[in-house]
Amino acid sequence: MVAVQLRARGIADERILGAMAELPRERFLDPGDRGLAYQDAAAPIAEGQTISQPYIVARMTELLQVAAGDRVLEIGTGSGYQAAVLAGIGTKVRSFERVAALAEAARVRLDALGVRNVEIRLGDGSVGDPDGAPWDGIIVTAAAPSVPDALRDQLAIGARLVIPVGRRHLQTLLVIERRSPSDWTETSEGPVVFVPLLGEAGWEPSHPARAS
Ligand code: SAH
Repeated sequence: MVAVQLRARGIADERILGAMAELPRERFLDPGDRGLAYQDAAAPIAEGQTISQPYIVARMTELLQVAAGDRVLEIGTGSGYQAAVLAGIGTKVRSFERVAALAEAARVRLDALGVRNVEIRLGDGSVGDPDGAPWDGIIVTAAAPSVPDALRDQLAIGARLVIPVGRRHLQTLLVIERRSPSDWTETSEGPVVFVPLLGEAGWEPSHPARAS
């Protein structure tokens, strides 16, 4: 996975490659799906959600440009894999998940794997977490209809927000960098497909058809 899917496609950060080489990705999937752990694609987890393709996890981590000791906010814990990769490069992660069963399973999984420095919170993370702001990086692993203003405002100066934004079934991966208290730059990193961010600054949970 690391050689063929990541290094050969331009992921060069040895910290990320090392963290992903160390982590047993099969442990983040249901026992019946473990054969999918190292395939070059997203894979199903519980509750109709997905664990992202390994390349996308690596790329988003690289785009975040965080260093050991940095405090990172993740929105969309899912299996906990992305959070574990971030912890593996030494950052301190707070991760929000809106589905209780997923949050609990991720907690148990990360404990069993001995992953430290990931705090999982149950709730709507679409408007971020002002209590922990400013964040050294914010990563959203679900698709938003637009960039939530609250997330821009919770970035430290020089910090980046990595977020898929667009339509319900096709998005663009955006990197928003806060240059000063009132200046943000935005770059596009190509097309991606994520499950929807549901909640206050995301799609409407009770009327999924409306947003399609
Ligand atoms: N990063 C995950 C994959 C995330 S899939 C991994 O590595 O496995 C997207 C997740 O975002 C799903 O689990 C979904 O339940 C969650 N989610 C969607 N909207 C959310 C919101 N508003 N707040 C928190 N979590 C949300």
